Amino acid sequence: MAIRREDTADCFVMPGKMVLPVQYFAGRVGSKFIISLRDDKKILGVKCPKCDKVYAPPREFCEKDLAKLDENWVELGNEGIITNYTIVNYNDRHLPLKAPYILALIKVDGADTPFAHIVSGIDPDQVTIGMRVKAVFAEKTTNTILDIAHFVPVID
Ligand SMILES: [Zn+2]
Repeated sequence: MAIRREDTADCFVMPGKMVLPVQYFAGRVGSKFIISLRDDKKILGVKCPKCDKVYAPPREFCEKDLAKLDENWVELGNEGIITNYTIVNYNDRHLPLKAPYILALIKVDGADTPFAHIVSGIDPDQVTIGMRVKAVFAEKTTNTILDIAHFVPVID
């Protein structure tokens, strides 16, 4: 966008671009979740000692009764069901794949909450709610949720 001369008559404007390297701490609970994915290829959740709700990914407190959850780890299955989905139909450099691809909410076995992940190995128009899928772990770690590369349908 061109800057008109009269807009800058009494101010100094310096156009530029920034690249900002960042890092963030996933937290104690988030770190244990990611490390388990990376080192053991296991999906962990936390179970509320008051209401028995199992959260995956784990969180520090129960949303219902505010009980502290971070000492109550449970190992979950690497399979689950799609509880909802969308088809991503646009490309953007921050997205993990080229469009179109399936972004689904997946509730793994043993969990009460779903999390969003990619479903591959199936045409986007074939995906259904309730479809059974299993995790495919990445060969190379990124120390993120993408240590699960994606989920694929379970063929019986
Ligand atoms: Zn609870």
